[in-house]
Amino acid sequence: MSDCFILLAAGKSKRFKSNIPKQFICYKNKPLFMHSIDKALKSNLFKQIILVSSSAVKSLKNKKITIIRGGEERYQSSQKALDYINKKKIKNVFIHDAARPNFSINLLKKLKKNLKKNKAVIPYINTDHSTKYKNKNKIINLKREKVLLTQTPQCFDFKTLYKLSKTNKKIITDEATLFLENNKNIKFIKGEKDNIKITTRSDLKKNLKTYYGIGFDIHKLVKNKKLYLGGINIPFHSGLKGHSDGDVIIHSIIDSILGAMKKRDIGTYFPSNKNKYKNIRSPKMLKPIVNMLNKDNFFINNLDINLICEKPKVSKYRNKIINSLSKLLLLDKKFINLKGKTVEKLGLIGNEKAIACETIVSVEKYE
Ligand code: ZN
Repeated sequence: MSDCFILLAAGKSKRFKSNIPKQFICYKNKPLFMHSIDKALKSNLFKQIILVSSSAVKSLKNKKITIIRGGEERYQSSQKALDYINKKKIKNVFIHDAARPNFSINLLKKLKKNLKKNKAVIPYINTDHSTKYKNKNKIINLKREKVLLTQTPQCFDFKTLYKLSKTNKKIITDEATLFLENNKNIKFIKGEKDNIKITTRSDLKKNLKTYYGIGFDIHKLVKNKKLYLGGINIPFHSGLKGHSDGDVIIHSIIDSILGAMKKRDIGTYFPSNKNKYKNIRSPKMLKPIVNMLNKDNFFINNLDINLICEKPKVSKYRNKIINSLSKLLLLDKKFINLKGKTVEKLGLIGNEKAIACETIVSVEKYE
C-alpha cells in the first residue's frame, strides 16, 4: 500500500486571460505546475504522482509520474484520477490544485502525520477581512476568526474518499466538501499564508521585484595551459592565466549574479591571496553562488553574455557552452544568451594575448 499525489492541472483558466493555460505559464523559472510536481518528488512521500492535465504535457522524465487527461471541470478531473488509481492499492491520496505552487514540503509532512488518526486532513487559513454572509436578501456579520479558508493539498484515506466520490451527485470545488456534505469528520490543520492560489495575471507578479547585475572579467592568455570557457575545455593554442582556471565567462557571471543580489564581488568569496583557491576550477566557485541565489529566492530570467576575443570562434562552441552553463546554473537554456565579439585585431585581445567577458543578468525575487 502506498501514497499517491494527484495534481489537478487541466483547468481552462478563464479568469487568467492568456493564450497559454495558466498551469503552463512560467513562474519562478519553471512552468507553474512543475513546482508542485518537484515538491511532491522531493518530499519522498509518494510512490505515485498523477498529473491530470490537458493535452499539452506529453511526458515527464520520471517513472513515478503518470499523466492522464482531465475532464471539463475540476471535479471531473479529480474523479478521473481517483478512478485511475482505484486498482493500484493506494492507502492515502493527496489532491492538489496546480494553481497553488507555493506550499511547503513541511505542509505535506504535517498532513500525512495527521492522517494517521483521521480520514481527511485539510489545511486552512483565517482571513484578515471583516466577513459577511449573504443569505437570500439578508446580509449577516460573521466572526472572522470562525471563518476557515480551505486550501490544497488536501489528504484523505483513499477508500473513504473514493466511496464518497462515487455516490456524489453535486458539483464540488474541493474534496473536503464531500466529507462535509456526508457529515464525516475532517481534521483541519493550519495552512500557509504563502500558499496563495494564482488566479489572475496580477497574482503572478504580486510582490515581484526585478534586479539587474553586471559583470566583467579579463585574463591573459599563456602557453601550456588549458583553455576553459563556461566550464568546458576548448582546444586552443593557449589557456587563461589566473589564480583559478581563469574562466572569464564564469567569473563574469558570478560577479553579475552577486551584483544583482547586492552581495559585493567574486573576490569577497574567493580571495586570490588564499592558497585554498589556487587552481580551483571555476564551476566549483559558481556552485555556492548558485546555492545562495536559490536559497534567497532569486530567479534568473535573462543572462546575456558577451565573450570578447579574436579566437576561438564562439559560434563553434556556443551550444556546448550554453549547455554547460545551463547545468551549472540549474537554469533552462532558454534564459541564456551568448554572443561572440571580436575587436578588429586591436590591442591585447586582438593579438590573442587576452580574453575578456561581460555579462548582464536579470533576476526576479518574490518579496
Ligand atoms: Zn577571472
